[in-house]
Amino acid sequence: MTTFSFELYPPRNAAAEVALQDSLAHLVASRPEFISVTYGANGSTRGMSLGVLRQLLATDVKPMAHLTCVGSSYAEASRLIREFLDAGVTSFLALRGDPPRGATEADAFLGDLGSASELVQLIHRVQAERSPFSLADVPGFPGAKKVASGEKVTIAVAAFPNGHPRSRSVEQDLDTLLAKEAAGANLAISQLFFHADDYLGFVDRARAAGVTMRILPGIMPVLSPQRLARILQLTDEAEPIALRRALASTDDPEAQRAIGIEHATALGADLLAGGASGLHLYTFNQHAAVLDVLEGVGVLHDSKEHA
Ligand code: FAD
Repeated sequence: MTTFSFELYPPRNAAAEVALQDSLAHLVASRPEFISVTYGANGSTRGMSLGVLRQLLATDVKPMAHLTCVGSSYAEASRLIREFLDAGVTSFLALRGDPPRGATEADAFLGDLGSASELVQLIHRVQAERSPFSLADVPGFPGAKKVASGEKVTIAVAAFPNGHPRSRSVEQDLDTLLAKEAAGANLAISQLFFHADDYLGFVDRARAAGVTMRILPGIMPVLSPQRLARILQLTDEAEPIALRRALASTDDPEAQRAIGIEHATALGADLLAGGASGLHLYTFNQHAAVLDVLEGVGVLHDSKEHA
């Protein structure tokens, strides 16, 4: 079955918190595989992120916590991972993180952990310490027990179909992804991109290099020229010229919205036709556009539930 999942960010103020409740209810009702919640630079959103994750834990939808290496000692990062595990979160997106506002790549902004791979290893270590093993039934021998491995956690990592801005070559991006899988990652989620071939070609190269974990494509409906400009600034992706021209061809926000939905729907359909096992949607904390895209692609479980 084709899966879909969403990314949210923690609300930044009371009004955003109220708006998020409405979106969260619609997104949960669509029964995604998981909903991931971002983590601000330097742990600035720790409490808010955990609040949204706890809310998701009260639903049937699996929450995924983003964690970064920024500014943490081993001890602090271990404590944070334990806090999330104790709350019941067993899915993580392990990231290096970007320099906080005012800092650059040249500044020492990371702390003890230098890369996402090291964070992946630390999450496994903390999980193994909490739950080193459990007892499982032995098939065919009623009452007999055997030692089973500890509870499994999902550890996702970032992938960059068009290259990470800091990476010097395609090979470096592939090596980094391989290193994350070798460290124990079992899922990759891609940076957003605008052409299906960017992702499909990247997956081919990753498989040829030996990456075996699922690589989910991350996509976002872009509903205005201003939003497009902001996304390009944040991601360093190349400008999708046809989409930029189409969005600039009208001043009507409704028409621009329709153009953005149509583009993301066509992209989603091409990705699934090309072999992607699911779609991960960046929601910008708004449900309507991403659900319209999923409806258009035809992957919502039961569209009546989202009316
Ligand atoms: P890494 O895999 O550790 O490395 C990034 C790149 O740097 C690699 O491609 C590699 O080529 C290069 N590199 C790594 N180590 C070295 C080295 N020693 N020398 C030279 N080059 C090296 N950021 C947040 O702050 N919060 C979030 O919630 C968040 N969510 C995200 C979700 C997704 C799906 C994605 C794609 C990104 C997200 N980010 C988030 C942004 C992310 O933190 C940045 O893109 C960051 O710059 C890279 O993170 P990474 O985990 O890929 O790093």
